Amino acid sequence: MNNKKNHIHVLPDQVINKIAAGEVVERPASVIKELVENALDAKATNIDIEILSGGRTLISVNDNGSGMDRNDALLAIERHATSKISDIDDIEQISTLGFRGEALAAISSVSRFTLRTRPANSLSGTELIMAGGKIQEVRDVGSPPGTQMEVRQLFFNVPARRKFLRSEQTETVHIRQVFMMYALANPSVGMKLKANGRLIYNLPPDATIENRLGELFVSISKNSLRPVSYSSKNLRISGYVALPSLTRADRSEQYLFINLRPAGAALLFGAIRDGYQSLIPKNRNPILFLFLEIDPALIDVNVHPAKKEIRFHNPGEVRNVVSEAIRTALKNIQIRNMSSFNSSPEGGQTPPNLLYRSDAGGKKHIITNTFDYSKAHKQKPDDTAPKATDLQFAGSHGTKVQDVAGEKVSDRPWRWYRIVGQIGNLYVILETEDGLVLMDPHAAHERVLFEKFTKEITKRSVESQALLMAENVVLPPADAVCLKRSLDTLKQNGFGIAEFGQDTFLVDSVPACFGNVSSGRLIAEIAAALTESDCKGKDMLEEQIARAACHASVKAHSRLTESEIERLINELEKAEMPYTCPHGRPVIIHFSFQELAKKFGRSAPRGESGENA
Ligand code: ADP
Ligand code: MG
Repeated sequence: MNNKKNHIHVLPDQVINKIAAGEVVERPASVIKELVENALDAKATNIDIEILSGGRTLISVNDNGSGMDRNDALLAIERHATSKISDIDDIEQISTLGFRGEALAAISSVSRFTLRTRPANSLSGTELIMAGGKIQEVRDVGSPPGTQMEVRQLFFNVPARRKFLRSEQTETVHIRQVFMMYALANPSVGMKLKANGRLIYNLPPDATIENRLGELFVSISKNSLRPVSYSSKNLRISGYVALPSLTRADRSEQYLFINLRPAGAALLFGAIRDGYQSLIPKNRNPILFLFLEIDPALIDVNVHPAKKEIRFHNPGEVRNVVSEAIRTALKNIQIRNMSSFNSSPEGGQTPPNLLYRSDAGGKKHIITNTFDYSKAHKQKPDDTAPKATDLQFAGSHGTKVQDVAGEKVSDRPWRWYRIVGQIGNLYVILETEDGLVLMDPHAAHERVLFEKFTKEITKRSVESQALLMAENVVLPPADAVCLKRSLDTLKQNGFGIAEFGQDTFLVDSVPACFGNVSSGRLIAEIAAALTESDCKGKDMLEEQIARAACHASVKAHSRLTESEIERLINELEKAEMPYTCPHGRPVIIHFSFQELAKKFGRSAPRGESGENA
């Protein structure tokens, strides 16, 4: 055994820095994060970023901030060297983005690093050239006021890390996400991002958060966002939350800032869920941009080396205030719907009094137009009626229901129905032979469309319909990458779509079954769905596309006419799986007379429950 190994010795600084770099520098995007934070702390009003090959070859961050003199520049690259705090109490009151004094030491130890910097009041600047943490040259240079950092060949001396870098495209996506975060939080600062010589973002200074949202999130319509503005004793919440219709499977579009620092906290996710209550399904996450301002003394930023997580001293208050802020922002939607409901000419109160019978051909027959409860009940032989508990299994398993006349009725959720009306500008109420059915017409429409479209796809006979005018669709970077990989499949299935540079696509036709839907929304939704599934599952691709497209093409229009409801029900009856939408949400919820009788404390079996007891 080598004796040397058993002796304890203190590691040289270079080795320490390289080890520590593992915590701070995970990939090119983390370098950008640290350098942009430094530029912001140095009060820069313009930050220019340039990358080559996803940041592997070069990351350069140029700012017009305070700059450093020669001594400071030499200190800046030392571990635990910082100008931002001086003693332990300062940690309790942090108002800068940095304070650990680690980033430059870490970055310079795992790259070829050049620092050029000059304070405005200094005549000449300093240039510092390093490789793998060793200083190679320090000299005076002419340079503009501010600081320029160049990080070349990241991880050139850490092969293990280099191996974990993903494709140029993926690393660029991460960089853009970091860029977007800081650009959103700092609209007053002009920010540019250039990749391989091409200008991707050029955001002017002195902008507002609304300007930035518009420039960075072209695919999110302003109409689908609600402003948030809410304060409590210790907390101020501002920003925007998306309507419940704009959700994603993951949290990648939840932009959270705590004192302008992009950061999450498990507690906020719970608060967001509470804020949306039951407005969104359990497995979905709303898109939102939330800024929390809180006294720095009430948070602990020093939890994670990359400062990604923050702890609150008053978690209960934060949780309540955040969810209340969201609820308040979303309340306006409900109020608006309510008022249009009240002003509707029918007052939403007149249920159509028609009774329909479903037959094998899916046509409806009007049985009577004055509803007669007892008569309706006499029409159904109890033993053959589907029970509430059977409903969810009936669809695809092909439970056959015997019709009154003895003909086979395939898989229908009901044998006859009567439209009672529509409530809350949304839910359709039906009476069926077996009880009460609530139907979500959007979910129903999505189901009908989905089955129609997938049938066409299977038969390779998707009908395409040209748009009056080709539409440009700009997507978030990650979504654009995924969509590009699926262009062929889209083209095979009725979409006329082509790449149109960077993250833009040109759409000139869409499958005819979607009618005149916004092709922008259609493509954005498909791309988001593909990204969520991480572009995986090639065999499921068409199904994913169909699911997303149907979701996007169902317009959330409020009141349906009676004939629209009828048409929808007739189509739904023919669906193979009428009970859930393509995303698994229920289309119809059933309450059997038996259940109702039980709820009302009646012992009578459901057949008699219609009569007065
Ligand atoms: P921290 O930001 O935690 O203090 P860093 O290693 O990122 O640690 O930076 C060390 C110090 O270098 C900072 O405290 C700051 O004084 C100085 N510095 C770094 N970047 C810049 C910059 N772009 N402009 C001016 N000073 C900078
Ligand atoms: Mg820093």
